[in-house]
Amino acid sequence: MSRPVGLYLHIPFCRSKCAYCDFPSFAGREEMMEPVTEKMCREMSEKGAALADAVVQTMYIGGGTPSVLPVPHMEKLLRSARASFRFARDAEISCEMNPGTVTGDFLKCLREYGVNRLSLGAQSGEDRLLKAVGRIHTFADTRKAVHLAHEAGFSNINLDMMLGLPGQTIGDVKRTLSDFLVLSPTHISCYALIVEEGTLMEKKVSRGEWVLPEEDEERGMYELARDTLEKNGLRQYEISNFAREGFLCRHNRDCWLREEYIGIGVSACGFLSPVRYRNPDTIPAYLRGEPAEETVLSAQDARFESVMLGLRLTEGLAETRFIQAHGMTFREAFGHKLDAPLKDGRLRFENGVLRLTRYGMDVMNSVLVELL
Ligand code: SF4
Repeated sequence: MSRPVGLYLHIPFCRSKCAYCDFPSFAGREEMMEPVTEKMCREMSEKGAALADAVVQTMYIGGGTPSVLPVPHMEKLLRSARASFRFARDAEISCEMNPGTVTGDFLKCLREYGVNRLSLGAQSGEDRLLKAVGRIHTFADTRKAVHLAHEAGFSNINLDMMLGLPGQTIGDVKRTLSDFLVLSPTHISCYALIVEEGTLMEKKVSRGEWVLPEEDEERGMYELARDTLEKNGLRQYEISNFAREGFLCRHNRDCWLREEYIGIGVSACGFLSPVRYRNPDTIPAYLRGEPAEETVLSAQDARFESVMLGLRLTEGLAETRFIQAHGMTFREAFGHKLDAPLKDGRLRFENGVLRLTRYGMDVMNSVLVELL
C-alpha cells in the first residue's frame, strides 16, 4: 500500500523583511543557511524512513525566499528529498522565488532536479508600491525573471499579486493586471493585504502614516481582478487563486482537501491524520532539535476543518469525500446549521457537492461562523 502525501520545504531566509510580513523568515542570517540546509536534509531522511509507504504527489518549496539560497544548498535539498522519499512519476514540484533574486544558475539547478512549477512573488506592476512595502524588486525584475524562467524551460509559472496595498488605486490594479497578463502566467494568486500584528505595516497604519484603501475600494479591486482574469482564461478555482485549464496548483488544492503533507524546516507545518504539527519557529530551536508542537484534532474539529478548507474551492466539497473521511453526511455533521446559508443563497448543495455561491464566497466567514 502506498500513502499519497505532499511535501513542504520551508526556507526561512529573505534578503530583507517586507513591511507587511509576519511569516517565519529572517534577513541577514546567511551564516545559518548551511546548518539549516543540513538539518533539513536530516529531517527529510528521518521522516522518509519513518513513512516508508509515503509517495510524494506534490512538493512545494516555499518560504521565506527559496531563491536566496546558494545553488549548492538548494541542490543538496533537492537531492536529499529524492533520496529520502519516493516521488510519483507525475509529481508537481513548485518553488517560490522573489523576482529580485532569480538567476539562470538557480533555475538550471531546479530544472535538473525536476522542479516543474515556479511561483514568483511579483505582487504588483507598480514600482512605487513595491518600494513602499519594502519589496526588493521592481516590475522590470519580474519581467526578466519570467524571461529567464522561459529560457530555462519553465512553462508553468504563477505570479502573486497583492490587493489593498497602502496608496494602491483601482487604476494601479488595472495596470498590474494587464502587465501581468502580457507575461502569460498559467496561474495568478491574488491576495488581499492583511495587516498583521507586530509588523512595520501595522505601526505605520496605526500612526496614520500609511493609508489603506477603503473596504469598498478593496472589494472593487478584487472584483476587477476576478473578472479580468476570468475573461483572460484564468478561471477562479479558489477564493484567491486563478489558473488556466490544467494548471491549478495541485499542492494547495490537496491542502484544501485535507490530504496529508509532511512539513520540513523551521516553522513548517505538516498534517499526518489526525495530527497537525508545527516545527519550532526559530532557527536556534530548530537546529537544537526541539520537538514539533502537535495537535490531535477532535472528530468534530476535523469535520469543521474539512468544510472550512473545502469550501474555499469553487469545485466545492463532495459529500462522498466527506463521508469517507468522517463517516457521516453533511446533514448528520451540521444538522439545521446548514438551513439558513442554503436558504439565503450563500451555500448550494447539488449533485452531492456542497459549495459556496459567488455571493457566499464574498461572505464565507459568516457561513463558517454559523456552521461552527
Ligand atoms: S519576501 Fe516574502 S517571506 Fe520574505 S519578507 Fe517579503 S513577504 Fe516575507
